[in-house]
Amino acid sequence: MESVKRAREKVLEAGRGMLQKGLVTATWGNISCRVEGKDYIAITPSGMEYDKLAEEDIVVLDMQGNLIFGRRRPSIELPLHLNLYNSRQDIQAIIHTHSTYATALACAHKHIAPIVEEMVQVAGGDVRVAKYALPGSGKLAENVLTAIRDRYAVLLANHGMIGTAGTLEEALKVCEIVEKAAKITVLCSIVGQPVPISFEDVQTMRKSYTTDYGQK
Ligand SMILES: [Zn+2]
Repeated sequence: MESVKRAREKVLEAGRGMLQKGLVTATWGNISCRVEGKDYIAITPSGMEYDKLAEEDIVVLDMQGNLIFGRRRPSIELPLHLNLYNSRQDIQAIIHTHSTYATALACAHKHIAPIVEEMVQVAGGDVRVAKYALPGSGKLAENVLTAIRDRYAVLLANHGMIGTAGTLEEALKVCEIVEKAAKITVLCSIVGQPVPISFEDVQTMRKSYTTDYGQK
């Protein structure tokens, strides 16, 4: 099954990218994507180191969470991933990290205001905070949906962040840019009050990013 193999390879690749970019420590965080042409997702296994993962360690499940391929236990955040895929058809890939500055703001229960241009382009506006619930719980999956609404990123109170997109490459970029915006928010608060970009300008930038940014 070619599309299953491809999805598993993409998850492995994103795991290596996440390590390289310093967005994760040891086994924390998780990665998933939809399997093209199937009602399946491919997700990282629970508690394994990213640089030691092989293709068959990536778990493939259907949209109800039934095991299709693999012999590992899936990430404990599986309910959160499934909930997002089942309610947002535009989301094809999800990366969850515990990156430092995003988590710092999440611990203060502070959203990332729309102050940085590239962040509003990839996230679609500010990045809200999902209310605290225990990791892996159905309640956390619910709180994430309540907070993310139409955005592509969300902070998890006292925990970390989630970046979503149409591809894993893009989801990794979302995580990187949100982490940078979180760092800027913290630094900016030292020298003054962060000044948000207007709602209209945020809408315009998001639109031009999704329609004509880059070499299209
Ligand atoms: Zn986590």
